Amino acid sequence: MLKVEHIGIAVKSLTESNDLFAKLFGQEAYKIEEVASEGVNTSFFKVGETKVELLEATQENSAIAKFIEKRGEGIHHIAFEVADIEAEMERLVGEGFQLIHTTPKDGADNKRICFLHPKSTNGVLIELCQEKQ
Ligand code: ZN
Repeated sequence: MLKVEHIGIAVKSLTESNDLFAKLFGQEAYKIEEVASEGVNTSFFKVGETKVELLEATQENSAIAKFIEKRGEGIHHIAFEVADIEAEMERLVGEGFQLIHTTPKDGADNKRICFLHPKSTNGVLIELCQEKQ
């Protein structure tokens, strides 16, 4: 893995949290994007080399809606950039980690992504992401 690419934070209202985090970081989100397949609206802030992704549910049955229902707003996942997502997925399966899905999916911010099951990573939801060519 190359670096922490972004930290994902689950929020109830993207509009309200965009204002809050813009104040916190002293800058506006550089991107706001819906990922319909995941049932989320997202926004991205750049903080040095790392990004912060805010996620708001657009559907009641989306993973973010369920997360907020169970645990409230807060840190949802940590995303690590990888050079070759398929190779990294294969390596991690070989090490005994459990993937949530077996092929990469399209994520926000021009990325191919994959999630590891938090059961196999001490309760931390980990995302792998690779910039699309
Ligand atoms: Zn993410």
